[in-house]
Amino acid sequence: MSKIYNFSAGPATLPEEVLRQAQIDLLDYQHSGLSILEMTHRSKGFQQIADQAEADLREVLSIPADYSVLFLAGGGRTQFAMVPMNLAAENPKMAYAETGIWSELAIQEARIYGEVTIAASSKANKHTRLPAATDWQIPKDAAYLHYTDNETVHGLEFPSPPESQGLPLVSDMSSNLLSRPVDISRYGIIYACAQKNLGPAGITIVIIRNELLARKPFDFTPNMLRYANQAADKSLYNTPPTFPWYVAGLMFQWVKKSGGVEKFAELNRLKSSQLYDVIDESAFYINPVDPAGRSRMNVVFTLANPDLTPQFLQEAQKHGLYNLKGHRAVGGIRASIYNAMPQAGVDALIAFMRDFEKRFT
Ligand code: PMP
Repeated sequence: MSKIYNFSAGPATLPEEVLRQAQIDLLDYQHSGLSILEMTHRSKGFQQIADQAEADLREVLSIPADYSVLFLAGGGRTQFAMVPMNLAAENPKMAYAETGIWSELAIQEARIYGEVTIAASSKANKHTRLPAATDWQIPKDAAYLHYTDNETVHGLEFPSPPESQGLPLVSDMSSNLLSRPVDISRYGIIYACAQKNLGPAGITIVIIRNELLARKPFDFTPNMLRYANQAADKSLYNTPPTFPWYVAGLMFQWVKKSGGVEKFAELNRLKSSQLYDVIDESAFYINPVDPAGRSRMNVVFTLANPDLTPQFLQEAQKHGLYNLKGHRAVGGIRASIYNAMPQAGVDALIAFMRDFEKRFT
């Protein structure tokens, strides 16, 4: 393997052993003579892959029996539409927390289907501080409360879920699912696109409490976008993205083998705090996020002298540290350090940051 570290926010770095297994199965899946790419989703072989992926995900996240697990196409943004389409038809009033670009986009989409109340917002502080628990105003009659567990662009993450006042809690965990244990029973729906912490782009995980499958969707909801249809057909309503589904399954096995989400919670805490320490100890690097809401997945920072940013990025790349450029909406630097980013990658980034600071102070 080449010696670069990929800090991309997604599609993101994958563990070498997962890529090697995929490489083997790409040519000949378990001595079947078929490539994994050539297997029909209606075959026994693929059904085994799908069943194993679901069983492993249920095990790693301790998903209770009264929840369904769906493997869908369309990425995170299709969920921005599926959630209101499926949950809000009979009561088109929805409550959303606004904590960054991804929740803003979810809100924009939900407004197509009904009335959105902003239950809490961090807009006034440019999404650098989570709304205080006392600042939430949740309409009791809303169909659900939606929030984004980790704002990938701003590096703002909820340390624990907000109180939903009895409403079904819907969470976008696209950029932090499997990074720590989650008490699934607190949620109505958790969804996550795979290309950050769960595998390659193309598959999206939805964990949904079964009682919500009984809600009547808007009449115009396409069959493909009805949770109940997908659950009834075990996510095989149409031809699913079989390869990303299979790689996500390899990722779940890798998480299990590596010590589970408890272990990753520990590693992620350590990796991110090391980076935040380097930033906080210097006047050269700045992270504006309140420590209580700092993301363990996406560490964002700027240089006190922003003119040095292009040079920082260029030199970082020469040192094998790739894709550190911040999101186009906010600029600066972003180091995405999901489960598959090894400690050695973070060590290399820290060494580079210290050296760069020394040379340009
Ligand atoms: N939600 C979050 C938190 C994200 O980070 C992203 C992608 N960056 C999305 C949703 C959208 O996912 P997709 O590109 O798969 O639609």
